[in-house]
Amino acid sequence: SIPLSFFGGIGGASKKGILVKGSNYLEALANAEIVVFDKTGTLTKGVFTVQEIQPVEISKEELLELAVYAESYSNHPISLSLKRAYKKEIDYGRISDVEEIAGYGVKAVVDGKQILAGNEKLMKKMNISFLREDFVETVVHIAVDNQYEGYILIADEIKKDSFEAIKNLKAIGIKQTIMLTGDTKNIGHKISKDLGIDKVYAELLPGDKVEKLEELFSLRSLKGKLVFVGDGINDAPVLARADIGIAMGGLGSDAAIEAADVVIMTDEPSKIATAIKISKKTLRIAN
Ligand code: ADP
Ligand code: MG
Repeated sequence: SIPLSFFGGIGGASKKGILVKGSNYLEALANAEIVVFDKTGTLTKGVFTVQEIQPVEISKEELLELAVYAESYSNHPISLSLKRAYKKEIDYGRISDVEEIAGYGVKAVVDGKQILAGNEKLMKKMNISFLREDFVETVVHIAVDNQYEGYILIADEIKKDSFEAIKNLKAIGIKQTIMLTGDTKNIGHKISKDLGIDKVYAELLPGDKVEKLEELFSLRSLKGKLVFVGDGINDAPVLARADIGIAMGGLGSDAAIEAADVVIMTDEPSKIATAIKISKKTLRIAN
C-alpha cells in the first residue's frame, strides 16, 4: 500500500506548480542521478529575435519575406521569430506545397518558386553551397529554386532561472547534468559552458535524441534514475522513454503533458531540484 506521506508529498509538490502523476514517480525522483535537458524552450526562453539579415543580392526585406513565407505554416520558435520581425500580413494565396522537415527547416512553394529555409544540414542535403557556418547564433539559410540567397541570424536567450536550476541540482547531489540539442555544436557548447552543464550533445535530430538517451542509461547506478526535461516540441518520445520524463509548462504541448510523468506548470527549470527535494523528504518520512 502507499504510505500516507506520499499523498502529502504529491500535494506539497502541486502547491509549487509541480504535478507528479503517481507515487511511483515521486519515489523514483528521490533516486534521480542524471538530469538530461533539452535546450530550446527548456533552458533557453525559446523566444528568438532576429539579429542580422545577410542577403547575397536581393534586399534585406526581400530575404526576410522569403523566409517568412516559407515558414508561414510552421509553429517552430524560429518561424515565430521571423514572423514577428516581418510585421506585415502574410498573403497565404501565394504559398503552396509546404513541408516542415524536423531538425532541418522548411520547404515551400511561394509564387511558383521553391523556397528552402533552414540550417546548414538542410543546405547540404539539398546540395546548395552557402556562406560560413561557425555562428554562435542560430542561422536560417535561404535558397530559391536551388540558388543561395543569404542567411538570417536569430538568437535565443538563456532563462535567468536556468543558472539557479543547474546550481541547485549540483547542491542536492545530482551526479551529472547533460544537455541535448538539435542546434549546432557552437551554440550547444556556449550555452552549456555558461550554465555549468557537464556534457552536451549537439546537432541531434528529434529521433537521435531518443537514441542518445538510451546510451545515457548506462551512466546511472543500479538504483539511480535518469530524468529528461523537455518542452514537448519534438521531444515527446524522449519524455516517454526516460525513467522520469518532466515536461515544462511554459510552451508545453498536449502531447508532452500526456507523455510526461511529471509536469512543471511554470517555465522555471529550478523546479526540478525542488521536486527532487520534496520527493527525498517524502521518502524519509515514509521510511
Ligand atoms: P532544439 O533541439 O534546439 O529544441 P529542434 O529539434 O526543434 O531544436 O530543431 C533543431 C534545428 O533544426 C534548429 O536549431 C534549426 O536549425 C532547425 N530547424 C528546425 N525547424 C526549423 C524551422 N521551422 N525553420 C528553420 N530551421 C529549423
Ligand atoms: Mg525542442
